[in-house]
Amino acid sequence: MIKIIRSIGRPLSTAVLAHPRPLNYSNYYSTLSPPSLSSAAAAEAERCIREGSRNNWSRDEIKSIYDSPLLDLLFHGAQVHRHAQNFREVQQCTLLSIKTGGCSEDCSYCPQSSRYDTGIKAQRLMNKDAVLEAAKKAKEAGSTRFCMGAAWRDTVGRKTNFNQILDYVKEIRDMGMEVCCTLGMLEKQQALELKKAGLTAYNHNLDTSREYYPNIISTRTYDERLETLRHVREAGINVCSGGIIGLGEAEEDRVGLLHTLATLPTHPESVPINALLAVTGTPLQDQKPVEIWEMIRMIATARIIMPKAMVRLSAGRVRFSIPEQALCFLAGANSIFTGEKLLTTPNNDYDADQFMFKLLGLIPKAPDFSDNAVKDVEAEKIEAVSC
Ligand code: SF4
Repeated sequence: MIKIIRSIGRPLSTAVLAHPRPLNYSNYYSTLSPPSLSSAAAAEAERCIREGSRNNWSRDEIKSIYDSPLLDLLFHGAQVHRHAQNFREVQQCTLLSIKTGGCSEDCSYCPQSSRYDTGIKAQRLMNKDAVLEAAKKAKEAGSTRFCMGAAWRDTVGRKTNFNQILDYVKEIRDMGMEVCCTLGMLEKQQALELKKAGLTAYNHNLDTSREYYPNIISTRTYDERLETLRHVREAGINVCSGGIIGLGEAEEDRVGLLHTLATLPTHPESVPINALLAVTGTPLQDQKPVEIWEMIRMIATARIIMPKAMVRLSAGRVRFSIPEQALCFLAGANSIFTGEKLLTTPNNDYDADQFMFKLLGLIPKAPDFSDNAVKDVEAEKIEAVSC
């Protein structure tokens, strides 16, 4: 009897073994509810494969997917990923800080805010030669997208710098790379100018849920962020928007962030999932590191609810081993940042990434300008209306 019961994986405690009257084990097992064979992740993955993307998600629906048993969620994230994407392709993006530090905003996680003593000195906008040289190196190293980040609240009143950046965008696009910028909040006209210069994508993260957001940033609102995303979308530029986990938020906030992104009129083309890298001197310096299981849960949920998006395993990747990153790719991540640094924080070693691609059989994703041809036309129409 003992052998039989052990063979189905339920160890007997010594208390049970010492029980004076043998228990009726068949009755005991009949009182346990059988494990549910279906989960919200399974049901939604199946629906997604059958019917495609949707953006009328309720928050409860996303929470049910997010709360599915982890391996089930991982499996169904992988299923959707294989259906909606070329699962072996991973986009390599290089992010360069072209204007570092001295930012007026108070984002609690950011070492570039002038409000925190993090040892980062404010610098001027990098000159053209240095930026183009970095883009060239990134391309030679296999990157197909070059992202330029500037530590600004917005670009209002920075006409000279903004015009310089438009020039950088044109030059890098002419090198055959996709170009992305993250320059803070954008006005509609600036978005149109960036589009005209050839910008592929604009990054502006929502960071967290609407409810938790005021705990992280007080100098600009959630709605202002959404407005920038709207300007980017209306200009015909791809939207790159995601968030950061490990800010002290609850799981409900992670669901809230995903819900906002997945219910935008059009899903973002890129969704970066960042794990906080706590930096000494910032208000979040003592946050405990995010675990790989938390990343997998976020990535797989994002993949199921936004099947066509590039889900980017972003900041914090440096802390994860190759087997851990492999689980993220399996769950649905298909984009990474390569290069020595992610703005000001450390990133994975170039050779280690090349080794990982070889080991896991991943293929670098080629640049894609196809969508932009259609959006170029849309942008022209918008421009014609706004002029
Ligand atoms: S995240 Fe961006 S806007 Fe916020 S403080 Fe850092 S550089 Fe400034």
